[in-house]
Amino acid sequence: MDKAGSKNISIAQSLPAGDLSPIDLAVLNYPMQSMSLNGKTGIVFGVANKRSIAWAIAQAWHKAGAPLAFTYQGERLKENVEELASTFGPGTLILPCDVSKDDEIASVFKTVGEKFGKLHLLLHSVAFAPKEALESDFLSTSREAFRVAHDVSAYSLVALARGAASWMTEGGSIVAMTYYGAEKVMPHYNVMGVAKASLEACTRYLAYDLGPKKIRVNCISAGPVNTLAARGIAGFTEILKHYEAHSPLKRNVLPEELGATGLFLAGDGAAAITGQVIYVDCGYQIMGM
Ligand code: NAD
Repeated sequence: MDKAGSKNISIAQSLPAGDLSPIDLAVLNYPMQSMSLNGKTGIVFGVANKRSIAWAIAQAWHKAGAPLAFTYQGERLKENVEELASTFGPGTLILPCDVSKDDEIASVFKTVGEKFGKLHLLLHSVAFAPKEALESDFLSTSREAFRVAHDVSAYSLVALARGAASWMTEGGSIVAMTYYGAEKVMPHYNVMGVAKASLEACTRYLAYDLGPKKIRVNCISAGPVNTLAARGIAGFTEILKHYEAHSPLKRNVLPEELGATGLFLAGDGAAAITGQVIYVDCGYQIMGM
């Protein structure tokens, strides 16, 4: 790290935890300025609106120089995604993709592969479980809710990785979003926690299969962020308050910080990291109580 970087970090560390100052933001921008994704191409699954974690990571990848393609789930979200993606240039590729449909996945990778010629980055930032499964107890989870949650939130990583791998001829980085509810019980997270455990296991098996092709597969385990998906979880506001009170950093993670980690995992700085779950949660995961 250069002199300026070290100085910024030491100033940031001396600040009280809590609000972010311009200096904190400079620290967050530091890796973005120094890490280039020039010559790499990527595809982003999971932008619904400007609050989406996928949008934060896409912005970091774009700022680092990677041309990106986007997908959206159905006509309802098309306009939002078009509006956001068009800020990356008029030619930005935007395609429909419901990740539970194999024909849509095949069509996306055919079009993206033909446009870019090769692919280096894939972001999987997609999850779904029927609302009723996230409101009451886990014991009541129906067979259908269990199936849908695992299909959309975990199997989709396998299907997307397979579609992307054939175009990742120079190696690549696949990043998926997970949550701590995969390993500890979070009230109301229910079947989504079980699906995230499957997603994390899929990440390890995919990392093993794709390692010889120099394709890395990792998860970011994010602390709670106020997004459309998060608001579907009963008591989500309480979770945000709990993290603020009990995480070592005494605050919640910012979308820009998830973007910075997404950029790190995409870049050569993470060239020897695969099959991992990286916690970006203000330290909450280390706490016993
Ligand atoms: P979000 O609502 O912005 O994004 C969820 C995305 O999943 C949406 O774009 C939605 O269209 C997409 N999706 C759902 N079903 C789909 C399907 N069948 N086909 C294609 N796309 C589909 O919410 P977010 O919080 O940004 O969620 C992104 C990821 O981050 C999810 O995997 C989520 O579990 C994970 N995550 C979120 C938090 C949080 O607190 N927000 C914390 C940890 C992990």
